[in-house]
Amino acid sequence: MSGWRDTLDLVSIDELAAKFSLNPDELHTISGLYPYRITRHYFNLIREKGDPIWIQSIPDLRESCDDQESDPLSENCLSPVPGLIHRYPDRVVWLVSAECAVYCRFCMRKRRVGCGEGLLVNSSEVIRYISENSSIRDVILSGGDPLMLDDEQLEGILSALKNISHVEMIRIGTRIPVTFPRRVTKKLAAMLAKYHPIYINTHFNHPTEITPESKNACAILADAGIVLGNQTVLIKNVNDEPETMNELMCKLLSIRVRPYYLHQMDLVKGTAHFRTSVNTGLDIMASLRGHLSGLAVPYYVIDLPGGKGKVPLLPGHEVRSDGTIQLTTYLGEKVIYHDI
Ligand SMILES: *Cc1c(COP(=O)(O)O)cnc(C)c1O
Ligand code: SF4
Repeated sequence: MSGWRDTLDLVSIDELAAKFSLNPDELHTISGLYPYRITRHYFNLIREKGDPIWIQSIPDLRESCDDQESDPLSENCLSPVPGLIHRYPDRVVWLVSAECAVYCRFCMRKRRVGCGEGLLVNSSEVIRYISENSSIRDVILSGGDPLMLDDEQLEGILSALKNISHVEMIRIGTRIPVTFPRRVTKKLAAMLAKYHPIYINTHFNHPTEITPESKNACAILADAGIVLGNQTVLIKNVNDEPETMNELMCKLLSIRVRPYYLHQMDLVKGTAHFRTSVNTGLDIMASLRGHLSGLAVPYYVIDLPGGKGKVPLLPGHEVRSDGTIQLTTYLGEKVIYHDI
């Protein structure tokens, strides 16, 4: 049924440890805390220890010594039924899969990916909730990675949503074009196209992730009429230099992907060593805006703690000397955000 699974081709901890002379026990310990998984495609993009691909995918002891909370965005409280996050009136996020092709070390949902908790099991409850809430017009499939479902499972979800008359569009958030591009087939794209309008947001963080294979995956999706956007996470020592971000944004447009969001890292447990300051992001934005095609410039956003939503950070925003920044939520509430 799932022919693509045979081509997933994962690199084991022991192979990783042998290739780079690492301590396998240490890697096993960290992966007991937060799961480890890397595809050979992504692994082969590593050029040397500590490079941007490495930083994003190889377990690091610093993940285990960080005392942030694990659900700063209060996603658990905004969940009317398991697996669904309803924060904004007209749209919901549905966590349809707990699995990814690569487990990113900086993941904001790292407490739940790879552990199969509370996902898909209640799909009829989710469908009922969406049917009964006619204000929901936009359903965002997320996870984990929705494209780790089999085509048949995914189609079951899409067709159930398509049957709800007030659902006007479906979005899919996926890192598969980056981590496992072979999964994107013409068959998959043709299936998705039956449920238009479908929008896909990919997740490229570094120019070296844009390979001929990922370019091809994006072309297959775009040729099926799917509008492609990209969400980048701003990560220390990965893409926190203006030149890197500039190159990434231009290359994305060249593979028919429109930059959408640049995310300030959330304050999630196990990820403190990836975080940059807000000023780093503001400086990067200043280096993009006006210098590049407007299409290449994403919104730089912070997802406010407590589930207050995403706020764009604009050139006028200033981090005060005490490290705080005043932001206004979409509901007009003023909040103080604490930068690192
Ligand atoms: C990001 C997000 C959305 C989508 O927000 P857009 O700004 O429309 O892309 C919806 N719900 C939740 C909970 C989110 O975190
Ligand atoms: S692909 Fe997305 S959900 Fe999966 S580990 Fe990476 S960032 Fe997290």
